[in-house]
Amino acid sequence: MSLAHELTIDNRAALAPPASSSQVATVQFKNHMPHDQFQEFVKKQLIKLFFAKEIISIVRLAPFIARLFLLNLDPLRELLLPTYRQPNHQPTDPVALFRSLLLMTMVKETSITKWVERLKDNKVYAILSGFEPGDLPGVGTFYDFLDRLVFADREEKRRQRNRRKKFRRKPAKRLKKNEKLPPKHPDIVNKIVKRILKNRHQAPYLGKYDILYQFFIYCIVQHSAQLGLLGDLQDLIVSGDGTHVRTGASSYGRKVCACPKFIIRDGKKVFNQCGCARKFSDFHAAWGWDSYREQYIFGYAFYELTAAASPFDLPIFFLQAQAQRHDSVLAPIAFDLTRKRLGEQYHLTKFLADSAHDNLATYKLLHEFSCEPFIPLNEKNKGHLSEGKLAPVHKNPTRLAALARHL
Ligand SMILES: [Zn+2]
Repeated sequence: MSLAHELTIDNRAALAPPASSSQVATVQFKNHMPHDQFQEFVKKQLIKLFFAKEIISIVRLAPFIARLFLLNLDPLRELLLPTYRQPNHQPTDPVALFRSLLLMTMVKETSITKWVERLKDNKVYAILSGFEPGDLPGVGTFYDFLDRLVFADREEKRRQRNRRKKFRRKPAKRLKKNEKLPPKHPDIVNKIVKRILKNRHQAPYLGKYDILYQFFIYCIVQHSAQLGLLGDLQDLIVSGDGTHVRTGASSYGRKVCACPKFIIRDGKKVFNQCGCARKFSDFHAAWGWDSYREQYIFGYAFYELTAAASPFDLPIFFLQAQAQRHDSVLAPIAFDLTRKRLGEQYHLTKFLADSAHDNLATYKLLHEFSCEPFIPLNEKNKGHLSEGKLAPVHKNPTRLAALARHL
């Protein structure tokens, strides 16, 4: 996967859902409940269970009940409507399925198969998802829904299943605490920033995750903004940082070549480590150094922008990339996509980040959009004075103090 493809900075049109509204207006979902109806349903069903003495402890479940009771996911149904083109049966309500997957994550279940079993066993989980306890969706319905979320059709899934790549070992070189692997190509941030500035008026491209991003912005960010939880939208202070997310898939992959499994070396039978390409169940996962945990992680890099002027540090945008991507590479892309996705209602005026972000290209980008950087100087970098940086923290203690007061 190329960087441009992965990080979506080029100018392909966003994947607009293809069907017209007349085609989709007739879809009748099973369990369809607008949010107020869902709230009534939860109240009625839980009271029924309580008096039938079927709930042992409602207190234990209270955090999940509160979160799902308040979370209005109705816009997601509208976003997903175009993916239900001429269904030949009554599809399960996508909102209930999404809510169920959220609950699954909250109770730390990772297997959909096991989750379907748990829904059958625990009526509260079924009710909180928005399902009648006796009428639950099967495993296939959940997988079908996940495909809809990322526009995956059967052909694409087949192609993905057949992809192969070379096996890579966990790197042997260890780094120190808080030390990050530098970007492979030193000039990459500069190139990315140039491209962002060139395409500044073009629509953002978020690829197959477009629906998820739209959902995140409409249902989560805008709602937080309306409740006043993000601070002043025209003077938005954001903080950017990256982390690593481990995948559940194996880093070894599966051999699919015809080479013998074992060979004789020095008179001993040993595993044949041939260099042929293998199949991987999580194809894009890779090794990346996690400077916080001081270990290599097989999975992904995850970059998040949060609203730093609110007491809750709520997320505003996130980006998933290959594990070896450096924070400084992801920051300009996240900044650009956030700016474009959120629109003119939001003005990012201050950007807080750690010293991994200390580079001239990032300062240029932020300056271009009237956003003030608060980034400590990286002592390993050279030319702090000669390059005429714009406003790193060290040079601007007054601004930092003002910002601290703001926080
Ligand atoms: Zn082989």
